[in-house]
Amino acid sequence: MLSNSLIELDRAHLVHPVASYRGHERAGVRVLASAKGAAVTDASGHRLVDGFAGLWCVNAGYGQESLIAAATRQLQELPYATGYFGLGSEPAIRLAAELAERAPGDLNHVYFTLGGSDAVDSTIRFIRYYWNARGEPQRDQFISIEQGYHGSSAVGAGLTALPVFHAGFGLPFAWQHKIPSHDVYRNPAGPDAAAIIAASLDALESKIAEVGGPERVAAFYAEPIQGSGGVLVPPPGWMKAMRERCRSHGILFVADEVITGFGRTGPLFACTDEDIVPDLMTTAKGLTSGYVPMGAVFLSDAVYDTIADGAGAAAVGHGQTYSAHPVSAAVGLAALRLYEGGLLENGVRAGARLMAGLRALADHPLVGHVRGRGMLAAIELVTDKERKTPLPAEAEPSRRIFDRAWDNGLVIRAFGNGVMGYAPPLCCTDDDIDAILERTARTLDQTL
Ligand code: PLP
Repeated sequence: MLSNSLIELDRAHLVHPVASYRGHERAGVRVLASAKGAAVTDASGHRLVDGFAGLWCVNAGYGQESLIAAATRQLQELPYATGYFGLGSEPAIRLAAELAERAPGDLNHVYFTLGGSDAVDSTIRFIRYYWNARGEPQRDQFISIEQGYHGSSAVGAGLTALPVFHAGFGLPFAWQHKIPSHDVYRNPAGPDAAAIIAASLDALESKIAEVGGPERVAAFYAEPIQGSGGVLVPPPGWMKAMRERCRSHGILFVADEVITGFGRTGPLFACTDEDIVPDLMTTAKGLTSGYVPMGAVFLSDAVYDTIADGAGAAAVGHGQTYSAHPVSAAVGLAALRLYEGGLLENGVRAGARLMAGLRALADHPLVGHVRGRGMLAAIELVTDKERKTPLPAEAEPSRRIFDRAWDNGLVIRAFGNGVMGYAPPLCCTDDDIDAILERTARTLDQTL
């Protein structure tokens, strides 16, 4: 039983990420107590299917013995090793090598962080260093995409294009620019793939011209699927077209795979689906299946070598105490074994069932759009399908939808304006997926 004192302690002392502080104080915390497979149980004994894998990170599911054993073993043998002073640990070295082997193209160099935000922040520093080393310091403008999310660090949050991360913080910085999203549902260019790609390329060209030409632009950032913006899936060929256009201007292309990496869309990295090799790639979340914190920045040979040669004998002044943490690395290695030992395949199977089931809900009077790939999906609710009218914002639809789903035994992400997001663990059984679908349908009917 959840004691009232825990709620009071939370209210008084725990600052929650991306929350209305006053709203949270009023509502009170919901405490999660235990989890197994795709199921979570709260402190009052309410059991739910976790349709969002925590925060789209517990890709392997809860209670995976091999991940727990890897962490335990590493904690006993060597709980910490710094990467400073030329030191290292075996799991970190092996994980870097195994990731490089599996990463697209020549992304052969891996810098480990604590999560996604500092991975994105690290790319900004590496990219600035790269252009300075290349003798092009004027390449200091960064372009990303509306609806994009690239974390909430002091600098990286400026690449994020969700207003809540800017309001009150004085972001973005003048050197951080955005082009419109490829959103296929609400795109002014219409739903046609070729038209959307052409519109995005035009927008990129205009933005490049606006900031002073290609020789001013350091890098372009894209998520293979925009996650926090509402699971916006670009049309086929979009990533490749943008990547090639960046290459033609000498602009670095950064793929932010913090959500899409590690089987979320099917393969280990979504860039494989897109048949592209970015210059830099960021990952986190599924890297350790959320069991322990870790992110990773992948650098191409050219980016790494330019930085290394530019520094010469001097140190490249970027580092963190917990970079390449051996416990996280040991869990990362064990997670890779799970993904490649059948979990990726299971995710593809379960994802097909999930997408088919969600598509079957398209006729529901509230469902305006169903989208997704693999185990990453969303349904967008509208009050008028013809006009694509969003649910009224003043009624706090996302909070009500989240609460209803919760009461029905389902954890989803309820985005603003009534988008329901799904990112279940890849270990889901058919029964788990069917429970997600049945509870979604029930939640929709109650929302009518
Ligand atoms: N980049 C993307 C695409 C993300 O979705 C996220 C988090 O959801 C981040 C970066 C930030 O990662 P973290 O929350 O681990 O700092």
